[in-house]
Amino acid sequence: MQIPKLAVIIPCFNEELCVESTCSRLLEVLDSLIANGEISKESFLYFVDDGSSDRTWEIIEGLYSKSFGRVKAMKFIRNYGNQKALIAGLEGVRNIGCDCAVSIDADLQQDELAIEKFLNEYKKGFDIVLGIRNDRKTDSLFKKTTAVMFYKLMNILGAKIPMNHSDYRLVSKRALDIMGLYHEKALFLRGFFHEVGLKTTTVNFDVKPRFAGQSKFNFLSLMGLALNGITSFSIYPLRIISCLGFLMALFAFLVGLETIFEKFMFNNSPNGTATMIILLCFFGGLQIFCLGVIGEYIGQVYREVKARPRYIAEKELK
Ligand code: UDP
Ligand code: MG
Repeated sequence: MQIPKLAVIIPCFNEELCVESTCSRLLEVLDSLIANGEISKESFLYFVDDGSSDRTWEIIEGLYSKSFGRVKAMKFIRNYGNQKALIAGLEGVRNIGCDCAVSIDADLQQDELAIEKFLNEYKKGFDIVLGIRNDRKTDSLFKKTTAVMFYKLMNILGAKIPMNHSDYRLVSKRALDIMGLYHEKALFLRGFFHEVGLKTTTVNFDVKPRFAGQSKFNFLSLMGLALNGITSFSIYPLRIISCLGFLMALFAFLVGLETIFEKFMFNNSPNGTATMIILLCFFGGLQIFCLGVIGEYIGQVYREVKARPRYIAEKELK
């Protein structure tokens, strides 16, 4: 096997406090890998500026101009979110040309030294190497619990994604080429790379606290990511709704039968407004919930049929 050309993708959104040190740290990692003959000299970093409103892009331009081609970058016209930035990065490095690509957060919360372990697995013939975090010590209790709930739910719903895998992974050129065949706009990368069926393995790594700046995710953006993950990789919720509807109708039918039976046999009429109100609220609530779930899928279809571009790049430095 010839020495692979590695591309490291770094999505950045308002990371002026991080990019510079992240860049030098990652270049150090590349240098030591090059020195050990693990990756080729043409390996490079690829920053995707997800429409930052601070000095992130200026800093990236500065890094580009003094990097002798080792730093490349793309800038979005506005903020499209971390998934789109990652997709753009994967497409960008594929167009430039590389043998494998690793995506890592700009705050270097993920242990950058794990890249070497990723490469070892890649050389054993794995197309996808997923980074799995050892623990969630750096996350708040709320984020921890919601994340665990999300993974459990996804797995129950049939979209098998590995627990504790954030978007820190290595993918081969082959995986990048296959990604090009998936035209869905709201591609959920964790689901996609798991579903695609290429040889996959995992590597564990430690999580560090963010070294500067604040998390760019809030409750709503995490909910959005979770809902997109579910609706783009599982139709189980729709099936569950159909089954629920059927069971409810059956239940109503049986209660009706029982009422008629009691009326004729014992001359009993059902009573109890409370029962009525409870049932009404329960079934009313359930119906609205089910409509909401179906609405989520319609929303997904709506977004996909419009076939808007995933993102618009304003500039690319390569
Ligand atoms: N990010 C992005 N676009 C966004 C939000 C985040 O490109 O709209 C990037 C961010 O700059 C960072 C990565 O995604 O490189 C992970 O974000 P963050 O560290 O804020 O998330 P957390 O680690 O708190 O989950
Ligand atoms: Mg982070």
